[in-house]
Amino acid sequence: MDSGSIRRKFLEFFEKKGHQIVPSAPLVLKNDPTLLFTNSGMVQFKDCFLGNTTPKSSRVADTQKCLRVSGKHNDLEEVGIDTYHHTMFEMLGNWSFGDYFKKDAIAWAWELLTEEYKLPKDRLYVTVFGGDKGDGLPVDEEAKGLWKAFIDEERILHGSKKDNFWEMGESGPCGPCSEIHVDLRSDEEVKKVPGKTLVNNDHPQVVEIWNLVFMEFNRKADGSLEKLPAQHVDTGMGFERLCMAIQGKTSNYDTDVFQPLITFIGEAANVKYKADEKTDIAMRVMADHVRAVSFAICDGQLPSNTGAGYVIRRILRRAVRYGFTFLDFKEPFIYKLVPVLANQLKDVFGELKAQEDYVSKVIFEEEASFLRTLEKGLKRIDAIIQEKKDKVIAGDQVFELYDTFGFPVDLTSLIARERGLSIDETGFETEMKKQKDRSKAAASKETGDWMSIGDDVKTEFTGYDSLEEDVKLVKYRIIKQKNKEQFQLVFNKTPFYAESGGQVGDTGFIESANEKIFIVDTKKENELIVHFSDKLPESLTASFHAVVQRDKRRQSMNNHSATHLLHAALRQVLGKHVEQKGSLVNDKLLRFDFSHFVAMTPEEIQQVEDIVNQKVRENIALDEKRNVPIEQAKTLGAMALFGEKYGDFVRVITFDPKFSVELCGGTHVRATGHIGLFKIISESSVAAGVRRIEAITADEAEAYVRNEVSLLDEIRGMLKNPKDLSAAVKALAEEKQALEKKLEVFNQEKANQVKDVLVTKAIKQGDKTLIMDKISLPNADTVKNVAYALRNQFNDLLLILAVEVEGKPQVCVMVGEQLAETKVYHAGNMVKELAKEIDGGGGGQPFFATAGGKNLAGLDAVLVKARGMIK
Ligand code: ATP
Ligand code: MG
Repeated sequence: MDSGSIRRKFLEFFEKKGHQIVPSAPLVLKNDPTLLFTNSGMVQFKDCFLGNTTPKSSRVADTQKCLRVSGKHNDLEEVGIDTYHHTMFEMLGNWSFGDYFKKDAIAWAWELLTEEYKLPKDRLYVTVFGGDKGDGLPVDEEAKGLWKAFIDEERILHGSKKDNFWEMGESGPCGPCSEIHVDLRSDEEVKKVPGKTLVNNDHPQVVEIWNLVFMEFNRKADGSLEKLPAQHVDTGMGFERLCMAIQGKTSNYDTDVFQPLITFIGEAANVKYKADEKTDIAMRVMADHVRAVSFAICDGQLPSNTGAGYVIRRILRRAVRYGFTFLDFKEPFIYKLVPVLANQLKDVFGELKAQEDYVSKVIFEEEASFLRTLEKGLKRIDAIIQEKKDKVIAGDQVFELYDTFGFPVDLTSLIARERGLSIDETGFETEMKKQKDRSKAAASKETGDWMSIGDDVKTEFTGYDSLEEDVKLVKYRIIKQKNKEQFQLVFNKTPFYAESGGQVGDTGFIESANEKIFIVDTKKENELIVHFSDKLPESLTASFHAVVQRDKRRQSMNNHSATHLLHAALRQVLGKHVEQKGSLVNDKLLRFDFSHFVAMTPEEIQQVEDIVNQKVRENIALDEKRNVPIEQAKTLGAMALFGEKYGDFVRVITFDPKFSVELCGGTHVRATGHIGLFKIISESSVAAGVRRIEAITADEAEAYVRNEVSLLDEIRGMLKNPKDLSAAVKALAEEKQALEKKLEVFNQEKANQVKDVLVTKAIKQGDKTLIMDKISLPNADTVKNVAYALRNQFNDLLLILAVEVEGKPQVCVMVGEQLAETKVYHAGNMVKELAKEIDGGGGGQPFFATAGGKNLAGLDAVLVKARGMIK
C-alpha cells in the first residue's frame, strides 16, 4: 500500500465511525505562549480540552503537520542518526471530546491496524499505565481489560509514568495512555530475543506507532490532580512509522515517503544510499530537514536570529553542514529538493506547491549565506590552529566558533581532528552553560493556575462595535517574573482587542465604584482574551466598566485599514504574486512584509502610494461581514493566508468589492477617509524574496510632512531663498569641491616654500646634517610631506621641527637613511621626550615620529630641549 492510500484509509476509517475530518493546523503557532510549533495533533484542540471553546464536532480526525525540535519534545539530535524520529512528521489522530472513551478508542485502533492495514497480530504489543505512587494512581485496569478482548495478556505491558501518563504541560489536562508498538525484526531474530523485552527500549525495529491518550484529569499548578468534568480521547499515530510497518520496511526512510528525496540527493551527490553509514546519515538528515524547513517557511516562519525563526535556521544549517561535510555539497543544494517534496505532497498539503518558488528561493539564500559563514569559520579555525602551541582548541574558542560562526561542536571537532588537534569539550560545555544560565535568568517566570470566579463562560468580544463595556471578571492568573507580579484577567465580555493579525492589543482601564485598574496590554492565549494588569481587583466579583484607550485604537484602526489598501495596491502595481508574509499594525505605523523578488523602483512606490491615497479620497465605506462560511468568503474573492488558522466561519473586510476583500479579525475605520494621508516611509528587504514597506497615516503622516516641509524651509532660508533650491544646493557642493582643490594646491605650494627655507638653514655637523626650526604649516599632512621631502634630499638628515598646525602644537623628528643605520638617534624616543614640553604624547618609528600636544607656548622649549639632546 503506498503512503497516499495509507493516509486516505485512516481518514476514511474514522469518517465511517462518525468523525468529522478537519485540515491540519499550521506548523507555526501564533497565539500559544507555551509552544513555538505544533508538536502533536492535540495542539489545535487545546482549548477544547481546557473548556475554553466548544469543539465543532465531538468526534474529529485528521493528519497534523508536527515539528519536534524545541521545548519538551525535541528529537533534533536523533534525527538522521536513527531511522524513526523526524523533525517534521505527520501525526494521524482521532479525537473524542466528551464523547466515546477507552472502549471504542481501543477497539477501533485494533480494527484499523489488523483488519484494514493487515498488520500481523503477533507482531504487536500494547502498553497500559502501570500506576504511580506519587499521584496515588493505580494500574489502568480498565484499559487492560479492554485490550484483553483482542490480544494475549502477555503482550500487554505495564508502562511507567514517563511513557504511559500523558501531560499537556506542567499543568493542564492529563491522563493515562496506551501505546501500540510493532516489532519489525526478522523471524529468526524474534525467535532469539522476544520482542516484549525490546518495547520502549530504543530499538530501531521495535517502535511505538500509536499512542491513545485518555484524558481524565487536570493537573493543577501545585501538582495535584482533579477529575475533569468530561473525559476525552486524544490519539496520535506516526504516519511515517505506520508506512514503514505496512510496507514491510525497517526504516522510515525506505518508505515511499522519503525515497524520492533520498534518490534525488544520491544522484546529485553521486553517492549510493546504504553504501556507507556516514553518507547515509547525511542523506537522511537532508531528506528529513528539507521537510521541516519548507513547511515552516510555507506556514509563515522565515529563518531568523530569534525564537522560532532561529530554530528553523538551525535545522537548515544542520542539513547544510551534513551535506557540506559528508556529501561534498559546497554550493547551495537543499533548495532543489523543494519541488520534489511539493509534488509529492501536493494533494495533502497544497500550500507548499502553491509557494514552491518562494520557499526554494528563501532556502537558497539561506544556504548561500551559511556556506559563506562556513568558509569564514574555516579560516578562523585555521587561524586558531596556527596560533596553537598545544594540541587542544580551547573551550572559549570552540564556543566562539559556535556562537558567531554557527559552527556546531562536532564540526569543529571533526576539522580539528583532520588537522591533528582535539577540542576542549568540557570547556565548551562550561561556556554553553554560562550562556544558558544567562538566558534562563532573563526568562524564568512562574505561572499560577487560572482561578475561576463563578461559572466558566466564553468571552464575548464587543470591541468591533464599541470601546466601552460593562464587564465581570471570570478568571485570573498570577505571573511572577523577577520578583514582579503581573496579573492576567479574563472577562465575560470585553471591548479590548487582543493582539492578532499583526494589530497590537488594546490598552485602557477597568473601573468600579471603588477602584480603577489599568490594562497595559491584551493578548490571545489560544481562544482566551487575556488582559494584562499590574494590579488585581480588590473585589473579584464587582462589576467594572471597561474602557479602551480611544486614540491609540483609532490610529491602529487607520493603520490596519491602510494595510488592506496597501496590499491591494501592491497586487495591482507589482502583480498577483504579492502575498502577505507578515504585518505589524500599531498606533505609530504599519509594517507590511510581502513576497516580491526585487526592490521596488521609486516609480512603483509612488504608484502604490497614489492608488492608496486615491482610495482614501473616495472615502469608501467599510463593508464588514461577520460569520461568513469560509467557502463563501473565498468566492467573494478573499484570499486565505498561508499559515493562518481559520475557523469554519470567518469575518470578511471589504473596501470596494473590486479592490480589497480580506479575511480579517482586526478593527477597521468606518470609511477610508479616516485614514487621511497615507505615506510610505521605507521600502527594504527582510529576507530573500520578501520585501518590507513601512508607512504612516493620518496624524503621523501629517506630522511627517510638516517636519519635512519645515526642514526644507529652514534650508531655503539658510541659502537666502533661492528660486531653485535644488540647483542652489548643487552649486554649493560644486563650489566647495572646487575650493578644496584650490586649497590643496595652495597648501602644497606653502609646504614647498617652507621646505626651501628649511634647506637654507641646514647645518652640517660631523656625520649629520641638522635642520631644526620652529615653523607653521596648514595641516598634518603637509608636515609629513615636508619631512619626507627633506629626507630624500639629505642622507644624513636629522630634522627636528616644532610646528604650529591650525593653532595647535606638534613635534616632528625625521632621521635620514644613512644616519638611521648608526642607531644613534631614535625618532620615536626623541619625540616622546620632546612632546612633554607641549603637554602631548606620541611616538613612532625609529626614523620618523610625530606628536601633537596642547601647549602651543611650549614650542620654543621643544627646540631648547632638542639642542640638549643632540649634544
Ligand atoms: P518516541 O518515544 O518514539 O519518541 P513519543 O512517545 O515521543 O515517541 P508521542 O508523543 O506519543 O510519541 O507521539 C505519538 C506518535 O507520534 C508516536 O507513537 C510516534 O508514532 C509518532 N512520533 C513521535 N515522535 C516522532 C518523531 N520525532 N518522528 C516521527 N514520528 C514520531
Ligand atoms: Mg519522543
